[in-house]
Amino acid sequence: MMINNSLDNRRNDAMTGCPDNSGKYSATRWKQVVIDDTTLRDGEQSAGIAFTVEEKIAIAQGLAAAGVPELEIGIPAMGEEEQYTMRAIVDLRLPLKLLGWCRLVDADLAAAKNTGVAMIDLSVPVSDQQIRHKLGRTRKEVLKDIKRLIPKALDAGFEVCLGCEDASRADLNYVQIVMETAQNVGARRIRFADTVGIMEPFSVADIFRMLREGSDLELEMHAHNDFGLASANTMAAVYGGATHINTTVNGLGERAGNAPLEEAVVALRHLYQVETGVDSGRLMALSDLVQRASGRDVGWQKSVVGEGVFTHEAGIHVDGLIKDPRNYQGLDPAELGRSHSLVLGKHSGGRTIRHCYTELGIELQVWQVDPLLQMVRTFTSQYKRVPQHSELHNFYLQLCDFEPLVLQRDVSKTPITKGGRVQ
Ligand SMILES: [Zn+2]
Repeated sequence: MMINNSLDNRRNDAMTGCPDNSGKYSATRWKQVVIDDTTLRDGEQSAGIAFTVEEKIAIAQGLAAAGVPELEIGIPAMGEEEQYTMRAIVDLRLPLKLLGWCRLVDADLAAAKNTGVAMIDLSVPVSDQQIRHKLGRTRKEVLKDIKRLIPKALDAGFEVCLGCEDASRADLNYVQIVMETAQNVGARRIRFADTVGIMEPFSVADIFRMLREGSDLELEMHAHNDFGLASANTMAAVYGGATHINTTVNGLGERAGNAPLEEAVVALRHLYQVETGVDSGRLMALSDLVQRASGRDVGWQKSVVGEGVFTHEAGIHVDGLIKDPRNYQGLDPAELGRSHSLVLGKHSGGRTIRHCYTELGIELQVWQVDPLLQMVRTFTSQYKRVPQHSELHNFYLQLCDFEPLVLQRDVSKTPITKGGRVQ
């Protein structure tokens, strides 16, 4: 097809889609992918979120400390305040590349000059839906703008990524023409945006493979999570040949959000043996920081950073974990600076309850195990949460009170109330 040069040939030498010597699945063409995190742009676009300057700086510093190599930090065309914030982040001189998001128009390019970012994403719709019904223009006119504005951005000193908005609903032949046009006038990267979040992993892999074979431009995937597939689609893009991916901390972003940074980092490492250079030990702190700044808590079961994802209750699992954590461990929590947590609940067994009380400094007697399990089950059914340490203590004290009263009842034949207290 279009472009084929030595870089592409070099990349084709790498292994694709087969087990390596260790038996692990080496699915990708290369072992390193660049994360271009957009928490500070698409993440902030999530309805109702507005970071302060201080929050944006703190998040940028946190991402830099974690080793994220690129950040998209805002939209210059939003005005002076946004430009000031972007400039403040640029002035930190963090060891990473900073990008601004612009529409493919003169005014946005002019605004970007006030920020000092090294690179801009010049975004333009490439689907007929958006070209006709959002811009009111034609495919030819879009190509004309690409030819005019990319050189103008280069002259202004920017590196350029051409953002193909709504690429997932576009004619792929046209996307390829857009890529070729952009490259011919100096763009170094194409962003393939699944703007409305309608892709699925198998077609993503096919499309990226096709784009990769036709061009040696940097290829970036921008996924949205409307069908819960943002991470899967991001992985599939890497599988197909993406060199760059967009993420956001905690998966913030328009509507259902973008691909979560934390998922991309650990999934690429463990499932594809692809490194991002990001220190996974800092992901929890980043998640906490962004939860506070955004006012959006992640769910208890949110993968990687959710409070409950290393918490175990079911008796069979806990028994297995106590014997050897690897029995029920897909991801080692130590990699995130976390640890397994065993809690008591409806599905707990005797071994778990003994273990939990031992941690509280109480060695249970055999007769105490079943009544305490019953008290825990009653509690979790009623309150829909696991009991805290203080509550476990109370159960134990209730049980200890109960024993002499049972003896008293046996002697006196006094009836017991529903609450277990002797009248
Ligand atoms: Zn987006």
